Amino acid sequence: MKTALLLSGGMDSVSIAYWKMPNIAITIDYGQRPAPGEIRAASAVCSSLGIEHQILTVDIAALGSGDLSDQPPVSGAPASEWWPYRNQFLLTVAAMRCHAEGVNRMMIGALKSDGFHADGTRVFVDAMNELFALQEGELAVEAPAIGFDAVELVRTSKVPMDILAWSHSCHVAEFACGFCRGCRKHYDTMEAVNGSAY
Ligand SMILES: [Zn+2]
Repeated sequence: MKTALLLSGGMDSVSIAYWKMPNIAITIDYGQRPAPGEIRAASAVCSSLGIEHQILTVDIAALGSGDLSDQPPVSGAPASEWWPYRNQFLLTVAAMRCHAEGVNRMMIGALKSDGFHADGTRVFVDAMNELFALQEGELAVEAPAIGFDAVELVRTSKVPMDILAWSHSCHVAEFACGFCRGCRKHYDTMEAVNGSAY
């Protein structure tokens, strides 16, 4: 069994990297504003944990809008981060690399609390799993943390703070802005786990 993890470098996927120790971690630069920070974080975590790290660049910046993109959110968009939703695309890109690497199981860091995004639900992950079974054959898609919120995941994974401290959750910049939804979630989770935001 060869496994891969879609590693954005945020605290959720970093926790899963420690918890599940995939053979390969894949970070995708799809033209998102925080990409340099995400790649730096993901590379540091993989280096610390001895996980092979692969970085793919597939720039779809011209197609996205929202906090993570250079284009402001379009009115009526159901997601402030990136719209139209990107996880279907990112999983497809990662699956192409997984196929080349002989990976049987690909993991994505969707949480229970991501369910307000249509591409972060258990139903979405199950549908993608079925689609890959039709398309790539032996490649299963799983969201091992889909039953947890961020705090439950950190606690379950037992990820050490010196690893988690590398994580980059900011939606808008290479270095944490401290104000966006990603940064606020990061601080709230750290505070809940540690009793301190840092
Ligand atoms: Zn931020």
